[in-house]
Amino acid sequence: MSGPRVGVAGAGIAGTLLAWRLKLADRRLRVELVDTASPEHGATGVSGGLVRGYEPDPRQLDLAASSLAELRASRLLRAWSGYQETGSVYLRADPADPAAVERLQRLLPGSARACAPGEAPYLAARHGVVERHAGFISPRRLRDEVLADFVRIGGDLVHGTVGAVRAEPGATVSWLVGGERRRYDSGVLATGPWTPALLPGDGYRTKLIQYGVYDATGTLPAPFVDEVTGLYGRPGPGNGVLLGVPSDAYDVDPTRLRPVPALLRRTSDLAARVLPELGIAGLRHIVVAADCYTASPGLRLRPAVPAGTSLFTFTGGSGGAAKTALAAARQAADRLLHRSAVPV
Ligand SMILES: Cc1cc2nc3c(=O)[nH]c(=O)nc-3n(C[C@H](O)[C@H](O)[C@H](O)COP(=O)(O)OP(=O)(O)OC[C@H]3O[C@@H](n4cnc5c(N)ncnc54)[C@H](O)[C@@H]3O)c2cc1C
Repeated sequence: MSGPRVGVAGAGIAGTLLAWRLKLADRRLRVELVDTASPEHGATGVSGGLVRGYEPDPRQLDLAASSLAELRASRLLRAWSGYQETGSVYLRADPADPAAVERLQRLLPGSARACAPGEAPYLAARHGVVERHAGFISPRRLRDEVLADFVRIGGDLVHGTVGAVRAEPGATVSWLVGGERRRYDSGVLATGPWTPALLPGDGYRTKLIQYGVYDATGTLPAPFVDEVTGLYGRPGPGNGVLLGVPSDAYDVDPTRLRPVPALLRRTSDLAARVLPELGIAGLRHIVVAADCYTASPGLRLRPAVPAGTSLFTFTGGSGGAAKTALAAARQAADRLLHRSAVPV
């Protein structure tokens, strides 16, 4: 095989889907996916996996709804990801932009409707966007299955830690893995919350994300997010419920995370207000992890600084990339393959 060589660092859902899309699009490409020996410590391994089409930001809405449309249309992707269609509710203080709901209807026909206060589930004071064709997946299962397929179709999986990343003369890229310098025509860092350490000063930050899994009695909620309080949740696993609120803990070290008791208290206080029919019987376990955040949030291909080299990032999911990863990876692979301009 003698096609161009692409290196992707990081086998979370972002890097794995990107590497797979590249190899599927052009089997002559030599695609090398590099990850540490235990990729299960990334965000993908513990993600809540809520997938819906609606997002307030139009670009994120397009990516989320296109990803969900592809997932729903593919028996393979549904099985690989363990997709469960439960519907979803997005609660807001003000009405959703009608153009956004219309766009959602075009991408996922018959799925979405806007609700006025009194019509939206859970909190009478809220506006809402209710979706029928939404639910949750296991991002980890999807990643594992896609990774296995990537190797089946001829992709190279290398175990090791990427360091000393360099843009080389002649628009190539190199990095060190286990003392060996590996060279590529293009290199993509899909290293999630480890990206700020690899590219300091490039505008990437980490942020802690924490949720609890509780035993529950009463009516289990459909996956929801309340934009006003930040409370989000979904049913399962088993007869349980996953509930969380956003933290404000930025610049955390992804390898040294501890549960934040104040976030747990806030989660259960808000759950009692937002979901009065749900009885929370006890905390089963707490999940604490980190994701990579950017000022303009969303998973997409970005040129690494200095722009104009063949080094890119594919990260910045900012706590929500499981729902956009399928479409974002397709777009990123397209840009890399056709060398179309990558917006900063
Ligand atoms: C607790 C939690 C709950 C979430 N819930 C949802 C949700 O309900 N819905 C939703 O849409 N999104 C959710 N998200 C967000 C979503 O899961 C993440 O945005 C997404 O998983 C990020 O994937 P990633 O591949 O960018 O990063 P990661 O999954 O973190 O993968 C990064 C990979 O890079 C590897 N790596 C790091 N450094 C190196 C190196 N130097 N060399 C080689 N490899 C390296 C790591 O081993 C890891 O495998 C959640 C995130 C968290 C943390």
